[in-house]
Order: sequence, then structure tokens, then C-alpha cells
Amino acid sequence: MADIFDPEKRSYVMSRVKSKNTKPEMLVRSFLPANGFRYRLHDKRLPGSPDIVLKKYGVVIFVNGCFWHGHKACKDGTRLPETRREWWKAKIDRNKKRDLRKIADLLSLGWQVITVWGCELKPKKREATLVQLAETLRNVLKKRGASLD
Ligand SMILES: [Zn+2]
Repeated sequence: MADIFDPEKRSYVMSRVKSKNTKPEMLVRSFLPANGFRYRLHDKRLPGSPDIVLKKYGVVIFVNGCFWHGHKACKDGTRLPETRREWWKAKIDRNKKRDLRKIADLLSLGWQVITVWGCELKPKKREATLVQLAETLRNVLKKRGASLD
């Protein structure tokens, strides 16, 4: 099949493809209901159509690939491909700006925003990350004064 996108467009499309239903996201998505947290997916009415929306908690969760979203804290997020480095750097900087914008918009609407990074879901860190996520959500709910169902 012909590739009808120019490289930048194609890369954008690839980033969209990768941004939905990626394995790290699936890990979080299967963990939540197993632990009693109900969510909605990719709510397009909210800024940036967040990956996971927990309405009762007033929380949205983004599960970010470290490379695409330029995770500062790990090597996947800071190592650029060998070729076209400037282009990649500009692209990832744009993604980061877009992420900050989304977060600011969501916060201004009263949502709390949790970002889970791909590297935090690698096998060694996975359990600790998910346990911490559950604890954070329970604390949010406590603060909101709602009762667990
Ligand atoms: Zn990372």
C-alpha cells in the first residue's frame, strides 16, 4: 500500500497509532477495574481526549510513551534517534508543549491529572507503580468526601 503521507505527517500518524491501546496503557486499564476503579476511555469531550477518565474521582490518567512524550527522567525519553536529530527534537518538543497545554486545560476545568510513564510500567517497576496509583486514587476519593461503592 502506498504511503500517502509526507514523512512528518506519517510520523504524526504513527505517533497517534502508538498513543492508543499501547501495552503500557493496557496494563493500567486492566489493573483499574480489577481493583474496583471504574473508568471511561479516550473521552473526546475533554481536552486532549485523556486515555483514562475516572469521573467519580475527578481524575484523568495519561499513559505516556517515554520517547514520544519526552520523559525527562529516563533514557527512553531523552535519547534521540541517530538520524534527523533536530527534526525529532523539534517534534518531541511540540508533543511536550501539547501535553502541558492539555494538562493546563484539564486542571482549569477542575480535573486532577496523573501521568504514568512507560518506563514506570516496565516489569521491575510495574507493581510499585500500580500500587501507588491505587493509593493515590483512594486518597483523592477520600479528599472528595465521597464513599466507596
Ligand atoms: Zn520514562
